[in-house]
Amino acid sequence: MGIPEITVNNISVQYRGVEALRDITLEIKPGRLTGIIGPNGAGKSTLMKAMLGLIPATGDPVFYGSQPLSQQRQRVAYVPQRSQIDWTYPATVWDVVMMGRIRKTGWFRRFSTVSHRRVAEALERVGMTAYKNRPIGQLSGGQQQRVFLARSLAQEAEIFCFDEPFVGIDQKTENIIFKIFRDLADSGKLVLVINHDLGESITNFDDIILLNKELIAAGRRQQVLQEENLNQAYGGKVMFFSGNAA
Ligand code: ADP
Ligand code: MG
Repeated sequence: MGIPEITVNNISVQYRGVEALRDITLEIKPGRLTGIIGPNGAGKSTLMKAMLGLIPATGDPVFYGSQPLSQQRQRVAYVPQRSQIDWTYPATVWDVVMMGRIRKTGWFRRFSTVSHRRVAEALERVGMTAYKNRPIGQLSGGQQQRVFLARSLAQEAEIFCFDEPFVGIDQKTENIIFKIFRDLADSGKLVLVINHDLGESITNFDDIILLNKELIAAGRRQQVLQEENLNQAYGGKVMFFSGNAA
């Protein structure tokens, strides 16, 4: 039963000879909400992309169960950082969410009944039904993020990867999104979220991967968020939500 875990073994990444990640080994478990945290430039986005096979890395292939994850991309929903999305793309909210169905049906069957229903359900779940005919570029940041979340839901993925979904969005939207992440994790999915913010929202995560080019710590939130680890990651300059520190 259930879905397997992701295992990362000795992954390193260099950009034109400059090291971005050094020798990362960790595992990510299904049924848990996992956060990747670390300072700017720590390699958080790089780790996510390397795991998904979107950029070259050295080390063992990243496995999902008994097969390389890069060969199982149809099981992955990935929402990159906002800055990497082309917001001038002339698509409506409905179109963007329907893109989550392409691998399921192919373009020629984009109007299949099941896909229609999945898209409608996903929009309802993120509270964006009323916006379905709007061009994506005309929405606020929080609305856009909810649409991309809906696309990943429509995809019916097993692995959900989000790169900084909370940047520039309001508290209400953040709560809506965290609630859906929680439901996904509780239903046994693997949910991986890059989170730049070390504030109170961090208590939403079950597991944390703490990174600064190297892996500082990974595992249960309370065990990772020790002062010593945070000092190592943030060089003693950490401002941390005290309600949850070690
Ligand atoms: P984070 O997501 O933690 O802020 P990144 O993974 O984006 O960090 O970047 C890690 C390091 O790699 C940074 O020093 C960044 O400047 C560098 N880097 C990221 N992407 C590229 C790229 N495409 N080419 C060259 N350097 C890059
Ligand atoms: Mg990043």
